[in-house]
Amino acid sequence: MIKLLANDGIDPVGKQLLEEAGFTVDTTFIPQDELPVKLQAYDAITVRSATKVRQALIDACPNLKLIGRGGVGVDNIDVEYAQSKGIAVHNTPAASSASVAELVFGHLFTGVRFLQDANRKMPVEGATKFNDLKKAYAKGIELRGKTIGILGFGRIGRETAKIAYGLGMEVLAFDLYPSVNEIELALGGGVKATVPVKYASKEEVIAQSDFISLHVPFSEEPVLGAKEFAAMKKGAGLVNCSRGGTVDELALVEALNSGQLAFAGLDVFDNEPTPRAELLQHPKISLTPHIGASTNEAQERIGVELATLIINYFKQ
Ligand code: NAD
Repeated sequence: MIKLLANDGIDPVGKQLLEEAGFTVDTTFIPQDELPVKLQAYDAITVRSATKVRQALIDACPNLKLIGRGGVGVDNIDVEYAQSKGIAVHNTPAASSASVAELVFGHLFTGVRFLQDANRKMPVEGATKFNDLKKAYAKGIELRGKTIGILGFGRIGRETAKIAYGLGMEVLAFDLYPSVNEIELALGGGVKATVPVKYASKEEVIAQSDFISLHVPFSEEPVLGAKEFAAMKKGAGLVNCSRGGTVDELALVEALNSGQLAFAGLDVFDNEPTPRAELLQHPKISLTPHIGASTNEAQERIGVELATLIINYFKQ
């Protein structure tokens, strides 16, 4: 019997598929420091972003045949080393794209309507002053008609564009390797439409957009720092639902404090799960703890995709 450790959990539908295929699926969480000993009893491990599968762990577990990543980024796995040892590494790149894109708009609507601050400052019983009751700051703007600049026009960038088009926004895209020229929209009511993609240089996207949404992979150097924030439209907003490290967080705080940027919505951070103090409780920042893929639908798709990959691998 093939033994699988789903160390960061797996959706029940995926677990059931694996069990029906004859796998033993263990969902008990094993802390990182105990894995080198305890993982030796398993043939495969699945992780999300929390558990790290580094060279030392791989070396300690010669029985390991497969590492599955429920999600996209594999920066918590030493992929090349695993593959050099004959261990298969699989992720589920497309399963969470729509959920991440929807969270982008959660942050965008939050930013333009001050929801993060409004939540904290709801009038308390007995408040009488006008400013306590209806904050002057709460005069927001609409997204409709505005331009969203999408840096990184891959799976999630394109899903973000689809929602933006549906809202009546303009979309400017930049990608190091542009791969599509048009976007197929499946709107409600069975309406379908095809929209040509408007590509521009990174500099043009940064200078011409009312909001920037970042959808690039992890990079050693931030993609957006002080220089880029200074080049954005005054009062622009930023959303980062990609990866920690892609934005210079201290430069971002400075740009918000100076009024150069109006707001930021962040789902990913240099330090996870505990972002740096400067970001917490900042009135112009809306924060979520890396929950882009945390929807029932995405988790089920991830679980099913991962289970199918694992079953097919061991069937060979
Ligand atoms: P993808 O590979 O489909 O798309 C990434 C795109 O970025 C590619 O088209 C690539 O050519 C482009 N790119 C790379 N570096 C670039 C750069 N410096 N400038 C411009 N373009 C660049 O990936 P995806 O599935 O769209 O995922 C995008 C990001 O979202 C990844 O960082 C992924 O880890 C992250 N993600 C976050 C969550 C979350 O919970 N917040 C969930 C899933 C994925």
